[in-house]
Amino acid sequence: MSERTLFTRIIEGEIPCYKLYENEHVFAFLDINPLSKGHTLLVSKEPAPSIDQLSPDSAAAIGKALPILSHAIKEATGAIAYNIIQNNGREAGMTVPHVHFHIIPKYAESKHSFTWEPESLDTSEGKTIVDAIRLSLNE
Ligand code: AMP
Repeated sequence: MSERTLFTRIIEGEIPCYKLYENEHVFAFLDINPLSKGHTLLVSKEPAPSIDQLSPDSAAAIGKALPILSHAIKEATGAIAYNIIQNNGREAGMTVPHVHFHIIPKYAESKHSFTWEPESLDTSEGKTIVDAIRLSLNE
């Protein structure tokens, strides 16, 4: 059996956390290094290392829990907005390889930002990549 992840150990109560919510498929708790007050992690109980490897049942449960939790966090904190961030793979900033979503409240005084430098989509590259992804979707 592969080694249990940090989040599995939290879910199973071996490591303490500020738990917010739990059902058959998901578990939510406060991030230990929050970007803002109420920064929450919504974790699948299934220890998939990235979202493309998550089962349909776990994915559906995450999809169902995200708006409910986001609403509760917004209402309880008085946040004016929030970001939902989800990293997959170390190169994408994932530090715990177990599917999780960050819900990060934003306040008028918040300083954190998520910036990137977009480029214009090249039309021939757009067509090539769309064809490739559509092919992959049909497999
Ligand atoms: P990521 O970089 O997307 O993999 O996010 C992992 C998150 O897990 C980080 O924001 C960490 O602060 C958070 N984290 C790590 N250990 C714990 C812990 N013991 N309790 C709560 N959050 C944690």
